[in-house]
Amino acid sequence: MAEETIFSKIIRKEIPSDILYQDELVTAFRDINPRAPSHILIIPNKLIPTVNDVEEEDELALGRMFTVARKIAKEEGIAEDGYRLIVNTNSYGGQEVYHIHMHLLGGRPLGPLLMS
Ligand code: 5GP
Repeated sequence: MAEETIFSKIIRKEIPSDILYQDELVTAFRDINPRAPSHILIIPNKLIPTVNDVEEEDELALGRMFTVARKIAKEEGIAEDGYRLIVNTNSYGGQEVYHIHMHLLGGRPLGPLLMS
């Protein structure tokens, strides 16, 4: 059984966060430490620790993360200029919170993907 992270508390609204979207499958909220003018995290409500733990039954929620990314990018006014979606996995991928999350980053030119 995977251990819950702070993101489960955000989903259940047990701790404050700036939630932009929530439905039965996913939740989207602003990152507490934004690295771009728009920095939003989109997560499945189900606790899936990493991409390595994804199952076929998760495809609906993972697909929903993309349609929510599209919707929020439009609302944030960053869809036309462009944005970046990132899913970090495990230590080499830079993952800090072990509940799958898609970073939606935009609002400025983001430069090359890998800077170190
Ligand atoms: P990772 O490095 O795992 O891909 O990204 C984790 C992200 O979660 C980081 O960008 C970090 O700022 C964000 N984060 C960590 N704790 C919280 C929190 O309690 N609230 C919010 N809104 N974001 C958080």
